[in-house]
Amino acid sequence: MPEATSPRDTTLAKDLPSHPFDIDADSDKLREECGVFGVVGVTEASNFIALGLHALQHRGQEAGGIVTYDETSGFNQARRMGLVRDNFTSADMMAMLPGEVGIGHVRYSTAGHKGQTAIRDVQPFFGEFSMGGAAIAHNGNITNAIALRKELIERGSIFQSSSDSECIIHLMARSMGRTIPDRMEEALRKVEGAFSVVAMTRSKLIGCRDPLGVRPLVLGKLGDGWVLASETCALDIVGADLIREIEPGEMVVISAETGVQSHFPFRRAKSRFCIFEHVYFSRPDSILGGRSVYETREAIGRELAKESPVDADLVCPVPDSGTPAAIGFSLESGIPYAMGIIRNQYMGRTFIEPSEQIRNMGVRLKLNVNRALIRGKRVILVDDSVVRGTTSQKIKEMILEAGAAEVHFRIASPPTQWPCFYGVDTPEREKLLAARMTEDEMRDHLGVDSLKFISIDGLYRAVGQSGGRDAKSPQYCDACFTGEYPITPTDMIERGFKTKVAAE
Ligand code: SF4
Repeated sequence: MPEATSPRDTTLAKDLPSHPFDIDADSDKLREECGVFGVVGVTEASNFIALGLHALQHRGQEAGGIVTYDETSGFNQARRMGLVRDNFTSADMMAMLPGEVGIGHVRYSTAGHKGQTAIRDVQPFFGEFSMGGAAIAHNGNITNAIALRKELIERGSIFQSSSDSECIIHLMARSMGRTIPDRMEEALRKVEGAFSVVAMTRSKLIGCRDPLGVRPLVLGKLGDGWVLASETCALDIVGADLIREIEPGEMVVISAETGVQSHFPFRRAKSRFCIFEHVYFSRPDSILGGRSVYETREAIGRELAKESPVDADLVCPVPDSGTPAAIGFSLESGIPYAMGIIRNQYMGRTFIEPSEQIRNMGVRLKLNVNRALIRGKRVILVDDSVVRGTTSQKIKEMILEAGAAEVHFRIASPPTQWPCFYGVDTPEREKLLAARMTEDEMRDHLGVDSLKFISIDGLYRAVGQSGGRDAKSPQYCDACFTGEYPITPTDMIERGFKTKVAAE
């Protein structure tokens, strides 16, 4: 039997204010919760993992962690609150994470302690099994986690965190599988929801996507080694070549010696990839489904211009995520594109001890209007989404204060009317502006001259389905726009959430 290999743990929870003021906390955006990255067969794996996580930082900024394995020191892990660049760049830190195999995770909390990540919730999670140790990191959300957790606790499992992802480790512990991949497979069969998981043993890297492939996961080649990452931008930063996307429902077990072994442990289902990854979550320099995210967003802007034209002088993006769609809108409409709002690139996310005055400045800390450009102009503002409507209202006020003659909002996604239960932080349904108001009511509420969202068919056309959403059965998850959840949100229904079908 292998020796016990409990990880050398350099997890720290020190020096943290209990409630740092997060200038993005009131931002009117849905937030992707996690990014995952793993390598095998690469010397100094932790350096590559840190770089990969840095490229995925937009998917989660609250905390991050890395686990590696090295023959001499065994498993090593470090988990930290805050950004990758602040925690995983020093030579001392990297020296504590030796080895040629490892995984990493960045997170923004969706399940567990929402918005107040505790260090114990930071992934990867580690488990000690009879055949050796394993660590896992998860992007997504387990929709039956409450029921699973209850059952596991009743049967003796002792949970260390409030994260739904820890269920996977406990399910693996209860499995009778002979190998860690076998146990992981059995555990994931009991899990419902959206998951892209990377895991590691002492010599293997494992990747798996849920049967619908809701969240992304890609495979890359780095010299003699292999990489798994949430997005291709994380392959680019380490110089890895994109091999392919991990398919929905696929599990890959990778080692330096045997290469990539693939199988499909789940019942096959039609892919329902998150369409919002195209609109907002993924970085514009990533490739999704063989298409550049930037080009898709530009196509969304073009569709929007065709569907909802307006006579105006300037097309301005709400930075940064509205930029490619604004360029597409400008190209299609012929209305000049201009940077009417400038983002302060050097503003960090957090003030540790903000004064009340700073708290009240909100959006102005991040965005400033380019007055000379805006004055007297009829301005089209292109943004990716409207969630609560709070930021849109503040931006409208800033634009009018700067002397704009008219303000027209064009939104690169359909109205967000339903919460996401698949790993994206969304307010309760009652707080979503589009769940409470019609498009015209939202326009009046925001006090703008016009407000138009791209239609769901327009969005499908822009992502490459020329006949619109219902030309085939939907190829994407679009539940936050349509209320049609491709995976039953079991826990939420138990807690009283009414799906569209139940509400009708
Ligand atoms: S509900 Fe919306 S954000 Fe969530 S996975 Fe589906 S499309 Fe993506």
